[in-house]
Amino acid sequence: MYDLIIVGAGPAGITASIYAARKRMNFLVITKDLGGQTILSAKVENYTGYQFIPGTELVDKFREHLEQFKIELKEGERVTLVKKDKDILKIETEKGKYETKTAVVASGRIPRKLGVEGEDEFKNRGVTYCATCDAPLFADMEVAVIGGGKAALDAVLQLIKIARKVYLMDIAPQLRADPIMVEKTKKSEKVTIYNNTKVDKIYGDKFVRGMRISRQGKSEDLAVGGIFIEIGSLPATDFVPEVAKNEIGEIIVNCRCETNIPGLFAAGDVTNVPAKQIIVACGEGAKASLSAFEYLSKKK
Ligand SMILES: Cc1cc2nc3c(=O)[nH]c(=O)nc-3n(C[C@H](O)[C@H](O)[C@H](O)COP(=O)(O)OP(=O)(O)OC[C@H]3O[C@@H](n4cnc5c(N)ncnc54)[C@H](O)[C@@H]3O)c2cc1C
Repeated sequence: MYDLIIVGAGPAGITASIYAARKRMNFLVITKDLGGQTILSAKVENYTGYQFIPGTELVDKFREHLEQFKIELKEGERVTLVKKDKDILKIETEKGKYETKTAVVASGRIPRKLGVEGEDEFKNRGVTYCATCDAPLFADMEVAVIGGGKAALDAVLQLIKIARKVYLMDIAPQLRADPIMVEKTKKSEKVTIYNNTKVDKIYGDKFVRGMRISRQGKSEDLAVGGIFIEIGSLPATDFVPEVAKNEIGEIIVNCRCETNIPGLFAAGDVTNVPAKQIIVACGEGAKASLSAFEYLSKKK
């Protein structure tokens, strides 16, 4: 029986872990990976203390900090269920079952799917959701990025250094990112922007060979060897069916990171707290562990 189980080790879960360790709580961290979405950010320029740091390096710093403490960490393990049973929280994963008095859900967000034919079939065979991870695989190739927000433009700006040609497919009439990013994208000779364009189908053989798009009422085929889907993300909450969520599936918390289930706290991008940013997630993670500690102190 643990005092606390933290689900997820992105910025929120890592910070929650550091605070729990400093409070000497008997706790466990279960996570699919260490770093979460921060790994996907090519450049972090808004984390206090660092004017500029690649996401992967910031995650190395987070890991170093975490490793100062003797933390029980189950990395590479996916939580499949969190439910309250009397006064105990029961947590199931693909590998085991755990019991705890409190839990912090810090599971962040997962990429939104496009939902077209061929997307699942060619996932990891040309279709990817992470430019930072996969861009180097597409050296000197023609690729497409789907989306028109910050994540899409982030992907384009990474790809122009590697790919031969980048098509940016956006369903909206205008790009929606920082003006500096939009300007850099438009300036690049390697980039062709297709506004008001819908992807209808992805096809190929062993790997992606192209996609069917429609624009201005016409359907056409575009040959590409890689497709980067960058159309936002959804909160990762499928394993907490009983907790109260808002209309877009985010876990509802108050300013103490408490959910509607006593003893269950949530932090970071998975919650309804605005500003999905690393620094905000860290702050929320800190609060969640402190709230769990206070909850246990009051129970004793
Ligand atoms: C491309 C991109 C660029 C970005 N750039 C910036 C930037 O420059 N500056 C900035 O401040 N923010 C940026 N962000 C946003 C920032 O990365 C997030 O706000 C932040 O990572 C949220 O932290 P989190 O801990 O709440 O969630 P996440 O980072 O999403 O971490 C969630 C963790 O939970 C784990 N998890 C999920 N489900 C389960 C499960 N069922 N079982 C076990 N573990 C699970 C995941 O493996 C992960 O470790 C960017 C995001 C993206 C996608």
